[in-house]
Parts: sequence; structure tokens; C-alpha cells
Amino acid sequence: MSASGVEAPDRLLIRDLAQLATPSRRSAPLRRAELGAVDVIENAYVLCEQGRINHVGKMRDLGPLTGEVAELDGRGLSAIPGLVDCHTHACFAGDRVGEFALRASGASYEELHAAGGGILSTVRATRDADEARLDTALERHVAWMLRSGTTTFEAKSGYGLDRETELAQLRVVRRAGGIPTWLGAHAVPPEFTDAGPAAYVDFLLAEVLPDAAQVAEAADIFLERGAFGVEEARRYLQACQNVGLALRLHGDQFTEAGAIPLAIELGARSVDHLESTGPGGIAALAASDVVGVLLPASALFLGRPMPPGRALADAGAAVALATDFNPGSAFCESLPLICSLACTQLGLSPEEALTACTVNAAHVLERAHRKGRLAPGYDADIVLIGADDWRHLAYHLGGPVVHTVLQGGRISWNSRA
Ligand SMILES: [Zn+2]
Repeated sequence: MSASGVEAPDRLLIRDLAQLATPSRRSAPLRRAELGAVDVIENAYVLCEQGRINHVGKMRDLGPLTGEVAELDGRGLSAIPGLVDCHTHACFAGDRVGEFALRASGASYEELHAAGGGILSTVRATRDADEARLDTALERHVAWMLRSGTTTFEAKSGYGLDRETELAQLRVVRRAGGIPTWLGAHAVPPEFTDAGPAAYVDFLLAEVLPDAAQVAEAADIFLERGAFGVEEARRYLQACQNVGLALRLHGDQFTEAGAIPLAIELGARSVDHLESTGPGGIAALAASDVVGVLLPASALFLGRPMPPGRALADAGAAVALATDFNPGSAFCESLPLICSLACTQLGLSPEEALTACTVNAAHVLERAHRKGRLAPGYDADIVLIGADDWRHLAYHLGGPVVHTVLQGGRISWNSRA
């Protein structure tokens, strides 16, 4: 992630914090009672050393520090772990504000497509952009994410749907400090309309996967009626797994089309969306190691039912929260807003929401050993909330809750700068 702050001091003490809040348990992913187990320390400090967290505790227990230590005044502020956005489509050219306005005026899905809207309009814009323009677009989006407290993000390809643009997207995400996921199977591009999704998957596996696997960490597919079916998804995902990619699935967004059983069968890291998941899917996911990634912004944006967050958590599923930031169905980069939606629409507590977009999201990205907690040994990725109670993170609906962001012990964004 790009950052504009000063050099990281070797040692940094954030002192006199009103509160420090961090998920309690060191394992991941967290579920059941552990999902909501957050340690809160009043009058706290964080000591960072060489970009990692060295110690956290109460100010009154802070012993004398010898040698050079930079200090940051935490009075009136609360520290939480840097937020982890494990599901975004942040690498795209153009926007779809016209389509948004048409939808707000009551246009149907078919009318939007007839007006040239939909995902293929972003595919056209992204194919037309050269790689430098994509770099610029993503840097702009990453700056928005950073000032919302996101210190680690994933971003998917899937707006190229051809060899050259898919690979360009993955490189752009990597250069911007993101974690790239190959979503070649996002939609069937116009040139494969006649040949169909199976032929497009053949093309992806033969022509794009060998190079995509050199840049991406995971592969993802949109498994949905009218997009890709279970057989195509299995073939695509198994081929990706065979070359070492972790697996993700977009599933149960509009219909239950078999994503959860396939995710479990293949040992995927996550199945994401779940707005249409029923009791059987909830029980199966809860009994598995697959994380359910909830994307309430896209449900809100499209006026769709919310995913069953409370039922999943109660059943014992490991859940994560993410923005789904994309130009068509969730033009939203703010994880604090997602936490608000989790509490007001999904029935999660602020503690559960915090764990879901820190530890559990880091687990989806295979980084839970370094990201998602304020504890010794973890990366010094820290968000300072501008309130003396950290729960303002979720309480302040769409408000400017983030005061300062640190990455690796360095200030990378400050609300007063
Ligand atoms: Zn998505």
C-alpha cells in the first residue's frame, strides 16, 4: 500500500491511549465465543520496534525506556489493529455513476444492460486503459481505503477477461502493495458468448493460468446461475489449486448454485457473498474450515437481502467482513461503514465485527500470523480511532472515525495532515 509518511522510527511509543482493543485469541480463524472476544485496555500504550509490535499494556505498567524512542500522543484516541479488506475489485478503470443514477431512477437490470451498463462496461474501460492508467486508478482507490483504516487489502482481476488485461491487473495490484487474486472466471466475455462458459474456461486454463499463477496468490470464480456452473468451477479451481493457488469462490449471491459444497470439497479458503444461503448451507459452512466472507455493502447497494451473518456466527461458522469495493455493485472502500452495517443489519456485535475484518480477514489472506492483532510480534499496522471508545468504529455511521493510520510502525495517513 502506498504511504506518504515519514521514515519509520526504530522505536515508537504510542502513549496515553484512551483505549486499545484487539481480538483476544492468537489462533485463526475465530468462531463462536472467540469471534466476539476482544481485549480492551484502558489508558494504554503500544511500543513498536523495527516495524513490529514489541509490547502493549497499561500506561501505569510502562517501565522506563532507554535509548531513542519516538513518541506519539494517543490522548483521546483508541487503537485497533489495522483493518484487513479481504475482498475487493479495486483495480478498474472508469466508473459506473451513470448506471447508478439509472438504477436509482428505477431502471431494470435489462434496461441497464441495454444502456451499455453492467460489468462489461467496466471490462471495456479496463481493456482500453494502459497499465500506467490502471496504476493511477488503483493508487487513487488505495488512498481512499487507507484513510478508512485499511492497511492490508486484496484485489481481484476479472475486468480484463483476456490474457493481456488480466495479467496487467494482477501486476498493478501487486505494485500497489495489494494481494492479487486471479478472477479470470468473473464473467464470460463477449468474444466467447457463442462458444460458452466451458470454452472460455478452456482458454483461461490454457492461455492465462500459467502466467497468472506467477503473480496471484489465489484464484476466484463467480459461481452463479447464468455465469459459471459447478462443473466448470470445479475444473477451473482444481487446475488453479494444482499450480499452488489458494481458492476463493463468489457464491450464493443470487441463488444457491452449489458454491458451499464445492468450496468444502476443494478446501477453499473462503466462499464470499452468501446473501441467498439457507439453513443447509449455513450448517455445512459452520462444520467446515471455509470462511464465510460477508459483503453487506453490495446487498445494501443493490437493495438485496443481507447475508445471514447472525445465523452463521451462531452456527459456529468462521465469518469475515469485506467491502467488495467495485464500480457496479458496491462503490464503497470503507471497512468502518461495513462494521456499522454488520452491527445494524447483520446482527453482529462491534467485537465480532472487529474480529471479522482483522483476524479472520487476515486468515482468508493467509496472513493471520502477522496481521490483525495488536500483540507482540505482529506487524505494527495500527488504526487510531478519533474517540475514547473504540466502538465508535461501528457506531459512527459513515463518519470520519479514523484519526491516524500506521503501517509497519510508520504513519501513513493522518486526518490532520
Ligand atoms: Zn466480489
